[in-house]
Amino acid sequence: MPHVPSPITSETGDSVDPFSHPSLITPSLEHAIAEAKHLVVLTGAGVSAESGVPTFRSSGGLWAQYDPTQLATREAFSRDPDLVWHWYSWRRGIIRGVQPNPGHFALVEAETLFPRFSLITQNVDNLHRRAGSSDVHELHGNIERSRCLDCARAYPGDEAPPSENALRCECGGLIRPGVVWFGESLPESELIFAQEAARTCDLFLSVGTSGLVYPAAALPLIAHQNGAYVVEINPELSAIARQMDECIAAPSGVALPMIIETTKRLRTTA
Ligand SMILES: [Zn+2]
Repeated sequence: MPHVPSPITSETGDSVDPFSHPSLITPSLEHAIAEAKHLVVLTGAGVSAESGVPTFRSSGGLWAQYDPTQLATREAFSRDPDLVWHWYSWRRGIIRGVQPNPGHFALVEAETLFPRFSLITQNVDNLHRRAGSSDVHELHGNIERSRCLDCARAYPGDEAPPSENALRCECGGLIRPGVVWFGESLPESELIFAQEAARTCDLFLSVGTSGLVYPAAALPLIAHQNGAYVVEINPELSAIARQMDECIAAPSGVALPMIIETTKRLRTTA
C-alpha cells in the first residue's frame, strides 16, 4: 500500500506555503532523495493546469462548437489545414499568456542537484523550456514548433497565424503543428529515451499525470519494476496510484519546491 497523506488545501482554496508543511516529505522519500543518483520526473497536464493552461477539453468561445478530438488528427488537417491552424494559433495565444509556476522552476533547479536528471513531459505547452529547463524530452511534441506533414522537416513556430493556403515546405508538403495527434505514434527517440531513463533511475516522480494515457503511464511502472522509488504527486490520486511507493496529494507547485529544498538540505549537510 502506498503512503497516502491527506490533501493539502487551505480554507480559502488558495495555494499553500510549501514550507509550512514539512510532513509532506516522509522519511522514506528523504532517504530516496539522499541516495538518488538519477532522478526522473514525468510531468502531465496537472502541472500546466496550475499555470492556467486550459485542459484539452475545456471549451472557449468560437471553438466551443468543435470537438478537439476532431481537430487534433491528421485527417482533420488534411481535410481543412486552415481550420486546424487557426485552432492551434488560438491555443498558442492562450499558452503564451500564462507563466511557468513554482513546480516548473523547481525542476530547473533539479538539474544541478542530482548526478543525473531526466525531465520527460506529456505537455506540449513549452512551459518547462520557458522556465529555464535545458533538456526536456517531449513525448507529445511542442505546440511552438512545426514540421512538414510529408518530409518531417522541422520549422520554428510562427508568430503570425499561417495564411490561407497554409504554409508549405520546400518539398511542397503542408507544414503542420509539431504535436502528436490522436492516432499517431509518439516520437520514437523520445519514447526510447524515456523508457531507458525509467529503467535505470533510482528515484521517479510522476507529477500531474492521470495515469490513463499510455505509453507514458507505463513509465512509473517500469521504474518501479526496476527498483526505483516511485512517487506520485497529484492533488487527486491517479489510476495507477496504488502501484506507487508513495503518493503526495498536493499540487506540484507546492510539492516540487519542497522536494528541492529537502534535496538542498540533505546534499549540502551530507
Ligand atoms: Zn517537406
